[in-house]
Order: sequence, then C-alpha cells, then structure tokens
Amino acid sequence: MRIQTFDTTLRDGTQGEAVSYSVDDKLLIAQKLDELGIDYIEGGWPGSNPKDKEFFERARQLRLHHARLTAFGSTRFAKNPVEEDRNVRALVEAGTPVCAIFGKSWDFHAYRALGVTEEENEALIYETVKYLVDHGKEVVYDAEHFFDGYINNPEFALRTLEAAKRAGAYVLCLCDTNGGTLTNRLAEIVAQVRQRFDGIIGIHTHNDSDVAVANTIAAVEEGATHVQGCMNGYGERCGNATLASVIANLELKLGHTTIGPEKLTQLSAACRYIAELANLTMRRDQPFVGQSAFAHKGGIHVSAVMKDSATYEHVKPESVGNRQRVLVSDLSGKSNVSYKLRQQGFERLSEEARRELVERIKELEYLGSDLEAADGTFELMVREALRPGLNFFEVEGYEVTTRSGAPHRSSATVKVRVHDEVHSATAHGHGPVHALDVCLRKCLSALYPQIGDVRLTDYKVRVLDSKKGTAAKVRVLVEWTDHRKSWSTVGVSDDVIEASWMALLDALRLELMRLTEKDESVDKAVEDYCWGV
Ligand SMILES: [Zn+2]
Repeated sequence: MRIQTFDTTLRDGTQGEAVSYSVDDKLLIAQKLDELGIDYIEGGWPGSNPKDKEFFERARQLRLHHARLTAFGSTRFAKNPVEEDRNVRALVEAGTPVCAIFGKSWDFHAYRALGVTEEENEALIYETVKYLVDHGKEVVYDAEHFFDGYINNPEFALRTLEAAKRAGAYVLCLCDTNGGTLTNRLAEIVAQVRQRFDGIIGIHTHNDSDVAVANTIAAVEEGATHVQGCMNGYGERCGNATLASVIANLELKLGHTTIGPEKLTQLSAACRYIAELANLTMRRDQPFVGQSAFAHKGGIHVSAVMKDSATYEHVKPESVGNRQRVLVSDLSGKSNVSYKLRQQGFERLSEEARRELVERIKELEYLGSDLEAADGTFELMVREALRPGLNFFEVEGYEVTTRSGAPHRSSATVKVRVHDEVHSATAHGHGPVHALDVCLRKCLSALYPQIGDVRLTDYKVRVLDSKKGTAAKVRVLVEWTDHRKSWSTVGVSDDVIEASWMALLDALRLELMRLTEKDESVDKAVEDYCWGV
C-alpha cells in the first residue's frame, strides 16, 4: 500500500525546546527532505511569526522535485469573517499548493478555549477549509485533540470531521495532540473513523507516552494512509512521532511503500544532516539511524554477528544507510578485537598477543578510558603489540607552570630519553597542554623531522567520579587530524594535566609509529579504517 509521508520538522519540530532553525537552515532542510522523497513538507505557520513568513517568500525559489510544500495555520477566529481573517489570508498568500489547518474536535476545547457552540465550531472548520479549497489549495485538515475528543464525545468529534470533509478537505488527519493515548485505544478509534469515512485518513501523534511511533504504525494497520511526524522526532514537549522510524518500519516490516527502498538508503544521512543544522547531537541510540543502532558490544553478540549479522540485527543496516559497528570495551571478548583487527587489516597478531591485548583493553576501560571513542589509542596498542620492544622515547619528566594574566602564560619543560641521549626543551604556550605539546615536538623533531603535520582539533574533559569534586578522576579525549584523516587518543588521571599529557603522548607515539612503519598494507588498512570512522 502506498502511504503518504508528511514531515513537520520545520513547524511542529521547531516547537521542541532545544530546536531552532534559521530561515537558511529551513530552506536547506526542505531541499533535503525533497531529495529523500518525502511527500509533504510543512514549512511553518506564516500567520504566526516573521521568520516563517520570510521562509515561504524565499521558498518560492526552491526547486522541489517531489514534495509539496505546506503552510500551517488554524481555522478562522470566531469573530472574523473568513475572508477578513489575517491568519487565513496569510495561508493563501504563502503561495504553497497545500495548506494544513487545525480545528477543535474536543467539545471541552471548543466550549472552554474558544467559547463557541458546536454549530459555530463546525462553521469555523467548514468555512476555513472551503475558503482555502476555493482558492485552489489542497487542504490537510488536522483534527486537534481528536482522540481525547472522541473518548469524551464521539459524535461531536465525528461531526467536526464531517464538516471538514463536506468543505473539501483532502486529508482528515487525526491528531493525538497531548500524546496521552495508548496504542490499543488509538487503533480502535482509527478503525471506527475508517468505517465512517472514505478517502485519506492521516495520523499525527506526539510522544508523551513514549508510543508515538507505535501509535502511527497501529493507525496505518487500521487504514490510515497518511503519516505525519518529524524525521528525528523533534517537537513540542516529548516530541512528535519519529518519522525516520515510521518510514523504516512501514517499508521494511510491513511491506508498504513510502519513499521506496532506494531513497531509504539515504535515511541515516538525512537525519544526521537535520540534527547538524539544528546544532543538536544526534541521539546515538535513535533506532535505525543512530550511530549505536547497529553497534555490538557484548562479546557473545559480536561472535554471533560475525557469523551472521541477522543473529542480533532486526534489519540490515545498509537498508537505511547505516552501518554495523563493533565496539571495543571492557565487555569485549576476543571476537570484538578480532573484528576490529580485521577492520584495520591487523590480522597478523598471534592468539597469545590478541589475548594480552584484550586484557590490556579491559584494564584500561576499568580505569576509565573510553576506547570506543579513542580509536587512535586502540591503534597504537595494536601497533605496539605487532612490534614488541619498539620504543621511540622514554619520558624522564616534565614540568609546567601557569601564570595568570599575560598571553602565552604557560611554560613547560620536558625531558625525554632517546636511546642513551637525553633531550630537553622549554617552551611557552597558550595553555599548559599547548606548552607541553610544543616542548615534546621540539625534543622529537631533531630525530624525526617529518613530525609536526598532526594538529589538535577537539579536546574534551569528562569527570568520571563527580562525588570527589575537584579531586575527581577525569578522562581527556583529544581529537587529532593530519588533514587527511582524524583519530582520537585518551588519557585518564585525577590530574587533568597528566590525563592530557597521556593523550598527547599516545598521539605522538602513534604518529611516529605511522611514520616509521614501512608496511604499506598496514598503512593502507589504517587509512581505510580511519576514513571509515
Ligand atoms: Zn503536533
């Protein structure tokens, strides 16, 4: 069955507490949703704020190949004739082929919030829909609070749908506006509406009871053929139904057609793009599209997915444009390390060396390192295991001081031993970590002139045992790049400088390993791996 998709990231999504888009962002997202094959893109409420008005003005320049842009608004105010209602006129002027308008289906809301009789409420709905239809618009009628309204007074709620239908609404969309309806009840109500009305029934759910996606799927199983939601589940309070999950379930589990299997492989990338523009971290555990959606950590799981991924994956990650990941951590068995080694092309490690590596990983994770994130530290450990006894330098000691006020206020001295010679250097830096970095590179560059391409791009500190206050143990995760690829190293200590120093040492040791490692196949494998992360 063909099911219509209606994304409201740009309207209901922006009502989420942390979500804010500029007009430029909104235009880019509309373009992306169109590329993904979404049928309707609800762009905003032109009558409610200048940003949305500007969006619709500029959206006239958008080249949408598939999607129909939709403007959102409410039925006319009770006191205004429809043709004089500013909100309704703004909808017409938005210039979109489709308008979505909401009206009251709950008698309590009509009487208390609007202060109108049942007949007056039906007139608001009928006249507004009719006015928009007469102006050439396709109208999606959003029956606000439909399920609460139906439970309270089913005949009242159904008569509001009849008013919209009589006036020419193309879609009757049933909204669980407060998100409080549970799935069985919601499904029963959709089935009753389906029996009474022909044409397209839509479903719009909120996630306050954590069942928005389930409710949407249940509504489709009862005959709804139009699904509304936000790609990443953004929205008022606890959010709207996560449209990415709805689409994936309909396509992969129920055999319906929404955006089709080919576009489905772009789903993960589209969701990340939308999160990126919202400047929000994508939920790692977001089903189907999150980074952890196909990440395996437990040793038994990993050994099974290596034989057949279906053992612990409900769908193929590639079908939604995601990928399988195997994590290395204190829960790791040998299988995780073997998988990682295969990924990195380091299968030459002996059984014995692999066992030792697993033990070292478990110990480091126990002490607080995060090797899932620190792929550089993991690679260094593997390289060290491949070349036991290789040691580029020993640290004899370091000192660092920081003075308040002046620029370049930190200075450091580092002493390292290379073979039998001791090298030392002193340097100033913007901060203690920078000063230590400069010193260490000074000491080593005489021996390894190629060193120096690598630079720090991100630095994160995380308190591991916050109960100890400022004496707490911290984990420092540093991200590095050499312009071609990036990787991270980790250090853990109750001294933030020491933890940073450990991450810095790992980065430089790894750099030296890579520079002096002559095995091109290893370099190639590492390169492929790093590009892949
Ligand atoms: Zn909503």
